Amino acid sequence: MFNRKLRENCGVIGIYGLPKAAQYAYLGLYALQHRGAESAGIIASDNGDFSFHRGMGEVATVFSNKHQLETLKGNMAIGHNRYSTTGASDQTNIQPLFSTYWGGEIGIGHNGNVTNYDSLRRRLEASGAIFRTDSDTEVFLHLIANSKESDIVQRLAKALRKVKGAFSLVLITPDKIIAARDPHGVRPLSLGKVRSGYIVASETCAFDIMKARYLRDVEPGEILVIDEQGPKTAYQRPQKRPAMCIFEYVYFSRPDSRIFNENVDKLRRKLGRRLAWEYPVDAELVISVPDSSNTHALGYSEGSGIKFEIGLIRNHYVGRTFIMPKQSIRDIDALIKYNPVKGVLEGKSIVLVDDSIVRGTTSRKIVKILREAGAKKIHFRVSSPPIISPCFYGVNIPTFEELIAHKHSVEEIRKILKVDSLEYLSIKGLLSISKRPPDQFCTACFSKHYPIPGDNVPKNTRKRGF
Ligand code: SF4
Repeated sequence: MFNRKLRENCGVIGIYGLPKAAQYAYLGLYALQHRGAESAGIIASDNGDFSFHRGMGEVATVFSNKHQLETLKGNMAIGHNRYSTTGASDQTNIQPLFSTYWGGEIGIGHNGNVTNYDSLRRRLEASGAIFRTDSDTEVFLHLIANSKESDIVQRLAKALRKVKGAFSLVLITPDKIIAARDPHGVRPLSLGKVRSGYIVASETCAFDIMKARYLRDVEPGEILVIDEQGPKTAYQRPQKRPAMCIFEYVYFSRPDSRIFNENVDKLRRKLGRRLAWEYPVDAELVISVPDSSNTHALGYSEGSGIKFEIGLIRNHYVGRTFIMPKQSIRDIDALIKYNPVKGVLEGKSIVLVDDSIVRGTTSRKIVKILREAGAKKIHFRVSSPPIISPCFYGVNIPTFEELIAHKHSVEEIRKILKVDSLEYLSIKGLLSISKRPPDQFCTACFSKHYPIPGDNVPKNTRKRGF
């Protein structure tokens, strides 16, 4: 199987005030497919009459039958795409989760990771809670049900005060859509308007597909309620020091999205330009590792004045279900995904731009493919710093042992990859691309500075930022 090198753990969407809201949620989930492809689901409400459909696989697989979507009635819906970071990848953990408790019915979709999940779950189970899933999202439902407040917003506010970590949430009740973001604002969540209705989504690329207009981000610590009076801030917890995930700009988000109120495409070009400024090299061509590095490579080309060329073609039809043939063709997994353009590469000295290196296995194979296609010199440039530490806030960055930059110096990695030179963007360079102050971002996977504590989160080992 050949997967994305890193996986975000989810995309969420909420729709209010549109007839056949589930169909809009479905379109939005399509746009957010890159944030989760293990499972997908939608819960719709028709004046409190709930219906849902959930399943394993990509959105197109889960909703392969038109009839499934038509059974989801009403003008409110929430949807979710999942990759697992907490809990197994199976039927029981598919979101949105739905529950009936003393206060009524409620559905929830979550992007992020609860860092005190283990201790919260132990406490809840000791007081009698029976968990149906092993997903951290379920703790939100138990904490809401445990609260004695009379109103759902107050119950949710009380629940969220007990949770540490990263969460961008969408919830559905019989008459409202609720959106909430953790007080550090780690994961994105935006609000838009479409005709007479409203949409909240992990990324604004979900707005474009339904011609919605971006209004604003859901603020860190905010609980936003959308009901017949429109959207309003129902509760604003005092914000903590922001810790927005800088990796959203590097890799996770789509370049056509607006994340943390900045345009991702523009920032990725800046990353490439900055990389060219920090690490210039004498070469004839700039090529990217498609598709995620295309914009970075264009930026490097702009910054260096070296021509951008398409030197690798990515096969878009390799699904996650690709089964490796038994007879072993060496590096078949990389070859099936990337094919070199020999006419471009033969005899050329190239700058290969990638957005990040995780384990290094794919990079090594790509370099080999380029060499065999005739590239004379390969200068590898990475538009983010070395990843030296795992993520505990909703991204499946592997364990310390699996990270090549945790175990090896840049020079050692250069030798492992067999390239003529290798350079990574500095943390200072990475943080320079945004108009926000550098200390508003989480950089923990590059710096080991973890802004939010948790059961398994290492204690801060360095100063924040760079
Ligand atoms: S550790 Fe890395 S991937 Fe995780 S939230 Fe921080 S910057 Fe993002």
